[in-house]
Amino acid sequence: METLVAPRPATLSRLGAIDCDVHPDAPRRADLMPYLDDYWREMVTSRDVDLLELTSYPTRTPPFNRPDWQAGEGKGVDKLRRNLLDPFGLRCAVLNCVTGVHAIYDPYLAAALCCATNDWLATEWLDRDPRLRASLVVPLQNPQAAVEEIERRAGDKRFVQVLALAMGEMPLGRRFYWPIYEAAERHGFALGIHAGSTYRHAPSQSGFPSHLVEDHVHQSQGFAAQVVSLVAEGVLVKFPNMKVVLIESGVSWLPGLMWRMSKDWRGARIEIPWVKEPPAALIRKQIRMTAQPFDAPLDPAELERIIEHLDADDMLLFATDYPHRHFDGDAALPAGFPERLLDRFVGENALSTYPRLEVLP
Ligand code: ZN
Repeated sequence: METLVAPRPATLSRLGAIDCDVHPDAPRRADLMPYLDDYWREMVTSRDVDLLELTSYPTRTPPFNRPDWQAGEGKGVDKLRRNLLDPFGLRCAVLNCVTGVHAIYDPYLAAALCCATNDWLATEWLDRDPRLRASLVVPLQNPQAAVEEIERRAGDKRFVQVLALAMGEMPLGRRFYWPIYEAAERHGFALGIHAGSTYRHAPSQSGFPSHLVEDHVHQSQGFAAQVVSLVAEGVLVKFPNMKVVLIESGVSWLPGLMWRMSKDWRGARIEIPWVKEPPAALIRKQIRMTAQPFDAPLDPAELERIIEHLDADDMLLFATDYPHRHFDGDAALPAGFPERLLDRFVGENALSTYPRLEVLP
């Protein structure tokens, strides 16, 4: 019988985990002003561009954040160090800055704000703690500028992946985005797809829902559509060295999608001859998932079954999704997570997912 570990804080700090999803609050206009040139400072002021938050992702809404992040003044590196990096004993943490720049229609403004956001991340966060890493914020609306941003940051290995949202303008498999993947793969970036929508389309397949809770549940539809698109359009075949990380996606919906797509592919693969192996095999090779929130049953035996259904010990990446509230205290390890997989889960899988990630042993 497999030994199962309880999610004790002492266990976590002993493990020296790599946290693959941590969120700084989205920067405001005032935060980005020092990183914009004269033209864009004038533009964002005269056009009154400020609230850079996505409505599906209200980082400043108290109920969505842990009380220890909300409490007191300042939400910078000192607080992150005090509340997360030190008490959780993290070896390093990847910052995902999910902001409204993804949803801006003006592709030139989006490019300028992405560049400023990355400068802000480097200066205000990465420079201030050697354990911090970040996802590169790029203008998916403007692939040429996105490629330029990837080239500009390629020398800074603290940026380990390129960030996209689960629900954008087009499915991420479309060739419009391939120049971004070509540059990302060439420089060893993973493609991170985080929960969130640009609201070009309704979050549900039947139209706009009324409540935020519906939006959150529908996020898994967005992730599913992206996985199907990346497989069918041939992105996973064309860019075999670029891992795709589904961030804050939940995990329990994926095994069913893998079975269904592999079955339908058998009957219809003449249409997509570049997909030469069952989609489930491609997904196991190249898709990774962060494990907070972990939407599995509380029963450890059932959790083990979901991991069996994924049938890939290297697919799950440890994450706290701090400061979001998914667990109490520092019980970030899913209850009953199999001990045989712990080393891979908290560190080895992240190191093989992010070729740019350099951490101390
Ligand atoms: Zn997250």
